[in-house]
Amino acid sequence: MSAQHEAGVATTHRVVILGAGYAGLSAAIQLACRVKRSEKVQVTLVNAQERFTERLRLHMTATGQRLAELSIPELLEGTGARFERGWVTAVDADAKTVRIDDERVLPYDTLVYALGGVADTAAVPGVEDHAYTLNTAQDAEVLAGRLSRLGGGTVVVVGSGLTGVESAAEIAERHPELNVVLLGRSEPGAAMNPKARAYLRSALDRLGVQVRSGVAVVKVLPGTVELAGGESVAADVVLWTCGTRVSPLAAAAGLTVDEHGRVVTDATLRSVSHPEVYAVGDAAAIRQGYGVMHGTCQGGMPTGVHAAVSIVRELKGKRPKPFRFGYYHTPVSLGRNDAVVQFTHPDDSPRRLHLTGRVAVRYKETVTASPWPTWGRMKKMPASGAFWPRGGRFTRVREA
Ligand SMILES: Cc1cc2nc3c(=O)[nH]c(=O)nc-3n(C[C@H](O)[C@H](O)[C@H](O)COP(=O)(O)OP(=O)(O)OC[C@H]3O[C@@H](n4cnc5c(N)ncnc54)[C@H](O)[C@@H]3O)c2cc1C
Repeated sequence: MSAQHEAGVATTHRVVILGAGYAGLSAAIQLACRVKRSEKVQVTLVNAQERFTERLRLHMTATGQRLAELSIPELLEGTGARFERGWVTAVDADAKTVRIDDERVLPYDTLVYALGGVADTAAVPGVEDHAYTLNTAQDAEVLAGRLSRLGGGTVVVVGSGLTGVESAAEIAERHPELNVVLLGRSEPGAAMNPKARAYLRSALDRLGVQVRSGVAVVKVLPGTVELAGGESVAADVVLWTCGTRVSPLAAAAGLTVDEHGRVVTDATLRSVSHPEVYAVGDAAAIRQGYGVMHGTCQGGMPTGVHAAVSIVRELKGKRPKPFRFGYYHTPVSLGRNDAVVQFTHPDDSPRRLHLTGRVAVRYKETVTASPWPTWGRMKKMPASGAFWPRGGRFTRVREA
């Protein structure tokens, strides 16, 4: 805390936002643009890299496709928000400070915690040492290099969730010389309606992906994965896409977290233990009427915007409003030439309506490309970022 603040004469409210992913950038731009004319609010965004990581496209990076260079400092130009590049190593929730790269210390009055989440590489022995991930852009690039040098052999993708499906399809399409095996507990597209699921499965078959569902990987070894029951599957490369792991910083700071380490929030997205901390995106455990939200970009961006609007309300002496969000779609790419889009009820259960083929490809690409122009619009007109489905009766939380 600054000496000025300790002396009680601070006039500037310092908001520090940790993580410039989909949720953190939404919070930073929305907030900075709403308080631009006020000299009493200072917004600082901290992120490990200056380049924005398009996580929705990391399976493309993993197959050697070049993505646009999206610069976070350039996006923030004109908003008044400051950018600090660095790795957050600690949060001191009592002193209200953040430590960056072990050297810099940033004081805050309000913290927005948006550090995201990654696949869980600690849950199964051998994953840390012998499997590749899509946890960062660098991880995806390392995998791309390995795949391009293989020349033949088997790639085992573990995890039949949507990241596993998109990755298996992309690798099979880009590397027809490789056998691609998709292993997972559930059937690919298990949460889709039967027709959409069947379409997804036929696309994987067409691409030559061998699907094995109902299996659990219990160990990863050099050159093989071991299944529950003792069977081994040969693998020249293993890509791990399962589970969720979040930064340990929130738990270490004494914030109340759930069993996955996500910050437990109240209805307005403030930490239940530290109300001066907002938690958004994949790093937060946010309860809606249908249950705790699962990590997506479609839900993450609204959480960031809502936190920003709530901070502005609090600065004006008003109470923040409850956050409500209902899912509306699950777009899944199946390589570059095919896709399936499942429309959903607000609780993420499938509707009958779905899209396939070229129209689904266009839909998916439009959605994937939309965050950057959305933030550009938000800079000119902050209110344009505040539209998302509230979920109606599905998102009403009943008090116990
Ligand atoms: C291959 C793939 C495909 C996906 N497809 C979809 C999809 O189609 N639709 C969808 O809705 N979701 C999809 N997702 C999920 C989606 O990417 C996440 O839900 C979303 O990125 C969450 O946003 P976030 O802002 O919470 O976190 P992130 O986007 O992960 O951002 C977190 C940021 O914090 C930074 N950070 C983390 N720790 C630190 C630290 N200690 N110090 C400094 N910086 C730090 C990270 O570098 C990152 O920039 C996909 C994910 C993957 C991997």
